Amino acid sequence: MTEIFTGSFTQQEPIPEAGIAAALQVMRHGRLHRYNTIAGEVGETALLEQEFAAFTGASYSLAVASGGYALANALRAVGVDPGDRVLTNAFTLAPVPGAIASIGAVPVFVGVTEHLTIDLEDLRAKAGQARVLLLSHMRGHICDMDQLMQICTEAGVEVIEDCAHTMGASWNGVPSGRHGVVGCYSTQTYKHMNSGEGGFLVSDDATVMARAVLLSGSYMLYDRHVAAPPEPAFAPLTLDTPNVSGRMDNLRAAILRPQLADLPQRSAAWNQRYRAVESGLRGAPGLTIVERPPAEAYVGSSFQFLLLDWAAEAIQTVLQRCATRGVELKWFGVDQPVGFTSRYDHWHYASAAPMPASDRVLAAIVDMRLPLTFSLQDCAVIARIIRAEVEAVGVDGPG
Ligand SMILES: *Cc1c(COP(=O)(O)O)cnc(C)c1O
Repeated sequence: MTEIFTGSFTQQEPIPEAGIAAALQVMRHGRLHRYNTIAGEVGETALLEQEFAAFTGASYSLAVASGGYALANALRAVGVDPGDRVLTNAFTLAPVPGAIASIGAVPVFVGVTEHLTIDLEDLRAKAGQARVLLLSHMRGHICDMDQLMQICTEAGVEVIEDCAHTMGASWNGVPSGRHGVVGCYSTQTYKHMNSGEGGFLVSDDATVMARAVLLSGSYMLYDRHVAAPPEPAFAPLTLDTPNVSGRMDNLRAAILRPQLADLPQRSAAWNQRYRAVESGLRGAPGLTIVERPPAEAYVGSSFQFLLLDWAAEAIQTVLQRCATRGVELKWFGVDQPVGFTSRYDHWHYASAAPMPASDRVLAAIVDMRLPLTFSLQDCAVIARIIRAEVEAVGVDGPG
């Protein structure tokens, strides 16, 4: 009998009861705006920032309206001006080049390797073209951060990390987001914590973080932060920093705080699911597993594999056949953007020289989410279905 999978690739877990209770309390007292506090009160957003700073080991943390906002805010905070060029990954999602374009800067794309990480040789070659690298740890794959930081330091390039898929991950024991001058995170529904929309910045740099807080729309109320730099960092900046409102509110912070406390267990649960899929697919002919280096402690909230050098029609046939069996796969080789998936040559506002080696990799990337609502058995079923269809198409051809 043909096995069919009936789970939903977009169904996340419910908000923990403690978060629902805390959200109800915020709604009952009505002080949703982060600066709407009574005497002696520290609001949910300020507490969340303090807890997130502790979680990452950063000196300072700022909660904002979205991950994309965090990226644009970080770029502004480190001093990127309109017209400046900003290095970034060719393999990422649209909010990353979008954040660069949103402040009038110009993305310069750096290639991707078969490990789905930034091509460090290409980075070395292009490092002279910009002052800032917006590094996207796309789908949670972390490059050799020691080597990357060496290349960037030597070239005088500051690094901002997009950790939308690496919240809770680390490289050589250093939490993701803590190598560069700023780390940015998302709490949008499909990431590692879910507040619908939301994001964070973390940094040890007092001036950069003071600017980030002012930019986020703190007015002169920044002393209500507990994870922000002290007053002297703000004083020289207050009259020169535009307010680009993008604050987080107490309601979202209330539902995030219990999720942050649960993140280590949730990360372990993701990795069990990741490894269940990985072991089910390993050795399938024509299918390349993306091997994870020992220095990388990842959070396996999604899974990618490569169908390297397969014909486009054959890959499309695999996707169709998996879809009819309930397994929803995304393909980065598709001509036109579909759903959340797009590619550097789809972003026409940012012209890019062709990158044949990266195009070969992008054309091979098949991608799926692994929500925690999947059981380990579900993951085994998914792997069996993909394996069977990859084998069938590989043997019979796309016809
Ligand atoms: C989701 C995402 C973002 C932006 O996050 P939002 O909170 O949706 O704005 C940035 N980078 C990557 C790689 C993402 O997947």
